Amino acid sequence: MTEKRDYYEVLGVAKDVSKPELKKAYRKLAIKYHPDKNPNNKEAEEKFKEASEAYEVINDDHKRQIYDQFGHRGLEGAGHTGPSGFEDIFSSFGDIFEDFFGFGSGSSRGNRVRRGSDLRYNMTIDFMEAAFGTEKTISIPKLDICDSCKGSGCEEGTSSETCPHCHGTGQFIQSQGFFKVKTTCPYCKGHGSIIPNPCRKCRGAGRVEITRKVQVKIPAGVDVGSKLRLTGEGEASPSPEGTSGDLYVVINVKPHKFFQRDNMDIICAIDISFIQAALGDEITIPTLVGEEKFKIPKGTQYGDVFRLRGEGIASLRTGRRGDQIIKVIIKTPTKLNKKQIKLLEDFDKLDSNKISNKLKNLFKNI
Ligand SMILES: [Zn+2]
Ligand SMILES: [Zn+2]
Repeated sequence: MTEKRDYYEVLGVAKDVSKPELKKAYRKLAIKYHPDKNPNNKEAEEKFKEASEAYEVINDDHKRQIYDQFGHRGLEGAGHTGPSGFEDIFSSFGDIFEDFFGFGSGSSRGNRVRRGSDLRYNMTIDFMEAAFGTEKTISIPKLDICDSCKGSGCEEGTSSETCPHCHGTGQFIQSQGFFKVKTTCPYCKGHGSIIPNPCRKCRGAGRVEITRKVQVKIPAGVDVGSKLRLTGEGEASPSPEGTSGDLYVVINVKPHKFFQRDNMDIICAIDISFIQAALGDEITIPTLVGEEKFKIPKGTQYGDVFRLRGEGIASLRTGRRGDQIIKVIIKTPTKLNKKQIKLLEDFDKLDSNKISNKLKNLFKNI
């Protein structure tokens, strides 16, 4: 018999390796040499066994101490023989295999109660609907519990039976020469039970494709990208005991021709004449709830911003309303008649604040 290799060397780790590092190193080797990946490969088989044995020892504080002190002989003296076959390896390191192969010791994955899938529905609504909330009915195609068999998949008056091939475990143990490998039972597909008389409506699946009408209440204040969750409105679980998934409605909001939205505030631009800007005026402006009188103060400048407090959109979370923000755009007249031109020229002569005069003085000083 050949000399046994050092366990640390087998795993490619240092003597002071930590447990998480050890696990990582072993996982890497186990994935590389796993019998499922290397069928009929004697060398991989040996490597897999060797790595598993090394891991079993180094991962056990007591055994590790003996090995560190006395080596392989020490362990033999303590009655350690190492795992004998794959059954042992799987039962010792079930949690590791479960992580990356989907099976492990004891648990039969096929019998696990699964939740139905979540569904997503994209909904586009109007600006005002987003501001004040609305209610919509949508049609969702999805898998739902078969009403004929109530999800059991069995024809009325019959029931499912324990799978005779795997005896209800949902797993199948195949022998490949020396190895025993666990696979999902091909007869019951891991369910552990079979249906002798499948339901005629769903052909034994327990679920049927339906189109369900769902009433969606959209709260005031939703914005582009808001997600509404409708618990239990997703697809039915593949197993009758499982819960349904959820339905997520993702909101898109159409732009408004007059208002723009900035979080809870709404922004609008108002055109006024330079006369209105200079002298002030009272104008009518649109708000979310209708028209409203608004006073433009004397001496308003281009780009001045006014706020109507609390006339924006209500926050989804707090219910507090944002503001309506009014940006003033001053329009310069382009079609002037003779009389208007004359008046402006007269005004110009009287204007002591004339910009061109100011500029002249400014250049003089440079
Ligand atoms: Zn059915
Ligand atoms: Zn079976």
